[in-house]
Amino acid sequence: MTPMVAEINRHEEALRGMSMEELRGKTAAFRDRLSKGETLDQLLPEAFAAVKNCCRRFTEEKRKIRVRGQEILWEMIPFDVQLIGAMVLHSGRIAEMATGEGKTLVATLPTYLNALSGKGVHVVTVNDYLAARDAEWMGEVYRELGLTVGCLQHGQTQAERRAQYACDITYGTCSEFGFDYLRDNGMATTPEDQVQRGHFYAIIDEVDSILIDEARTPLIISGPVTVSTHQFDKYRSVIESLVRKQNGLCTDWANQAKEKVEKGDLQGAGRLLFKVKMGSPRNKLLLKFQEDPGTRRAIDDAELEMYQDTRRTELYKTKEEMYFSIDERNSEADLSEMGRTFLNPSDPIFFLVPDLITKNHDIDTNATLSAEEKLKAKQAAQADYEEASQRIHNISQLLRAYCVFEKDVHYVVQENKVVIVDEYTGRLMPGRRWSDGLHQAVEAKEGVQIDRETQTLATITIQNYFRLYEKLAGMTGTAETEAHEFKDIYRLGVVVIPTNRNCVRKDADDLIFKTRREKLGALIEEIKKRNAAGQPMLVGTASVESSEIISRMLRRENIPHSVLNAKQHQLEAEIVARAGERGAVMIATNMAGRGTDIKLSPGVAELGGLHVVGTERHESRRIDRQLRGRCARQGDPGSSQFFISFEDDLMRNFGDSRKIAGLMTKLGMEENEGLQHPWLNRSVETAQKRVEGRNYQVRKHTLQYDDVMNQQRTVIYAWRSDILNSTEPRPEVFETVDERISAEVEARAGTDPVDLDGLVHWANSAMPVGLQKEDFLKAGGKEEWAKLLKARVREAYEVKVKFENPEAVKALERFVVLGAIDRLWQEHLYAMDGLRTSINLRAYGQKDPLIEYKNEAYGMFGELMGRIKEEVVHNLFRSASSLSAFESFLSALPQRTGRGELPVQAQARPVETEGSISMGGGQSSVVEEALAPMKRQGPKLGRNDACPLDSKKKFKNCCGAAGSKVCLKVSA
Ligand code: ADP
Ligand code: MG
Repeated sequence: MTPMVAEINRHEEALRGMSMEELRGKTAAFRDRLSKGETLDQLLPEAFAAVKNCCRRFTEEKRKIRVRGQEILWEMIPFDVQLIGAMVLHSGRIAEMATGEGKTLVATLPTYLNALSGKGVHVVTVNDYLAARDAEWMGEVYRELGLTVGCLQHGQTQAERRAQYACDITYGTCSEFGFDYLRDNGMATTPEDQVQRGHFYAIIDEVDSILIDEARTPLIISGPVTVSTHQFDKYRSVIESLVRKQNGLCTDWANQAKEKVEKGDLQGAGRLLFKVKMGSPRNKLLLKFQEDPGTRRAIDDAELEMYQDTRRTELYKTKEEMYFSIDERNSEADLSEMGRTFLNPSDPIFFLVPDLITKNHDIDTNATLSAEEKLKAKQAAQADYEEASQRIHNISQLLRAYCVFEKDVHYVVQENKVVIVDEYTGRLMPGRRWSDGLHQAVEAKEGVQIDRETQTLATITIQNYFRLYEKLAGMTGTAETEAHEFKDIYRLGVVVIPTNRNCVRKDADDLIFKTRREKLGALIEEIKKRNAAGQPMLVGTASVESSEIISRMLRRENIPHSVLNAKQHQLEAEIVARAGERGAVMIATNMAGRGTDIKLSPGVAELGGLHVVGTERHESRRIDRQLRGRCARQGDPGSSQFFISFEDDLMRNFGDSRKIAGLMTKLGMEENEGLQHPWLNRSVETAQKRVEGRNYQVRKHTLQYDDVMNQQRTVIYAWRSDILNSTEPRPEVFETVDERISAEVEARAGTDPVDLDGLVHWANSAMPVGLQKEDFLKAGGKEEWAKLLKARVREAYEVKVKFENPEAVKALERFVVLGAIDRLWQEHLYAMDGLRTSINLRAYGQKDPLIEYKNEAYGMFGELMGRIKEEVVHNLFRSASSLSAFESFLSALPQRTGRGELPVQAQARPVETEGSISMGGGQSSVVEEALAPMKRQGPKLGRNDACPLDSKKKFKNCCGAAGSKVCLKVSA
């Protein structure tokens, strides 16, 4: 790449003599050359040179730029390493560049180059503040060179968003981009409602934070569900007493274990404590024993022993000795027989999933049942099964809420709401909710208002959103450890770019303590010592809770400090910017994705620069690297060290405590004294690799399921988009109608005997074709039937549109298809959610849940497509742009098809959009209004009178049910 750098620099030199006007003229010239067939790759050296030269001019003229209300002096010209980073970004890969290397500036080069294509470049930032900051700051370069820059912000209107996307370059967060995509493709009903204009090239800043950390939660647009299935209120108090019972049990065991330890029976104690760990992982005494290397090792031994395949029955028996067992690693909770009996003494089976397969088999082989009875019995069994699954699911989520999710660690309660604390950043995530009922379970536990369950209206994973782009690139200080995942899932290679100046950071070995208390004590001493010397410090924690603990301890010592818990990103940026001042102490929960670097104030370098202390190793090595990387930027001095203890979650759950304990005994560990050994670092890293591996599997798993959805979503969105953007929707509509007709004819003709009556009935009730059985018999075989139907439906449609304004008809045709797609697709999403849950339950059997899921999802999608087509056919003649058009059409239909044969749901309802009407499961009030003129002739019917349309039904259940006051048949 170096020859290329030299070339860029040569071009840049040549530009120096030009006027600003001439430099700006380059943009148009580049665009012109592109249109004449040159490629972006060919333009790269000159285009990069233009950007670099623009930066030089800004620097020389000491240009001041207003960024988020503050004047910033421009004093940067891209270094050669930045040019290399920029080339990597242009090539569609990830550039790993350390903090402070100036990635914000690096991005301008490929952004400018690719924006020359006119297709829109998206620059993705971690928060709204940074999007606005970078659009203003870097925007100066783009604007100077004659390009337009936009910036998405939460809360912008549709029109504002459209304007941002219309720019050559658009800055914004990942969720703003993703949600716009979902709204454009899942909700927009006219092309004017759509805001995006394609997915050409995106550069993601802090790419690991977005593609790895945030990728665990998909983007979801949801609305309230119509029926609620939650029973958390109902079970809350009984679960509370169950948990209390269990805690009592576990405390007894822990006390017995204590006696055994005193008697020297470590093995016996280990077994008991392992039981406590299964039953109540956060038991106080247990936590204490886990601090001690000896007992800790005994617990691990017991656990290892228990998980051997030959001991399965024993493990099972152990689990049956408590009310429920909890697997902290997998966040799962399971009731035992004892637990079930406690919950429902008279009928413990109540909380057991029925064995549906055996039940169905029994029904099938029961000779005394008729086919109809079998069907009924099976349906009943299915209903039972679903009800029980729901119940057990509720209980299990409540148990998780009580035993795994801790207040002020995993969530906080604010203003009568449960607010999630992001486990990676420690930030509060208002508005975000755990899925699958867990959030409601936690709400029930905390006694706050249980919010309504919501239903997914549109959803996509972040992975699948970014896969839409023709070209994707990213930048971060830490990608290397996750290179495998980037390659695997996004096909993104990682290139590590050398720093501009050599990094002189000193990373000390970890200091390990027996207990958290000892660790924190030593930590505060360390802070005091360095603070007295004036050295600034960044203290990184793994949770909001521990930030607060340390803050309290520092207050007691009268050490001024700031805590980065900011909900306000601008404030956050200001706090971070001051963290390099003399004597500054900043406590921050996780620095990944914070996007602001820490500059040293004068005189601080002589004190050793910024010192970073980690108070806990994070679950992932990457987050630790992010923290370390905050110091020693651009050749500054700096140092870092982690303080850890055996009580840390990472060590408790994933540490190889046997080895560590052995080592500690060997080296002899004193109270209140930390131990330091390179071997310990490796051991911590091994634990982290274990967690990383597991988390990767979780993300991959989510993605495998979403891939199934993604294929379906692609088909549906493409269909939707074709209709939405077509100027002549009718051929598309009739294609759908024809497919539906062919399928119906095929099905009716495929039975033995041929179901011609059924076909005639279907045809006449779906479409006003006015065909009799004889017409079909005369026509010939099934091919002719289909032909006949297709011809007749077109004729009828011609009649219909005669009364309509041609433009209104087009809008109407689009509405008919979009309405059908949207309504049924949303129903489908709901059903798919359900499928996910039930498949997971099925996983207890022998089957591979993913394969099962794929098969069933495939079947359900086939049904969905069929139902959409049916609804299109059905609604095509039941919609009108105005009431008079509809009435005229009805009266123009041939006599024998009669309006009465258009079923009751026939509805024309005017909607907000001019000249068109929308379809779908309508609101009865509107239906009533729309049908009003037809009522006049009809006799008034009592609610319990037989309805003339279908004399087997009472009026209130027939026409009356659709909101009409008269029978449609009669009134027609
Ligand atoms: P990163 O995102 O890589 O951590 P930033 O983009 O936030 O870094 O930039 C860090 C600081 O480095 C900024 O204050 C910026 O002004 C400065 N900087 C970036 N590039 C240069 C350059 N070529 N010359 C001088 N300063 C630069
Ligand atoms: Mg940055």
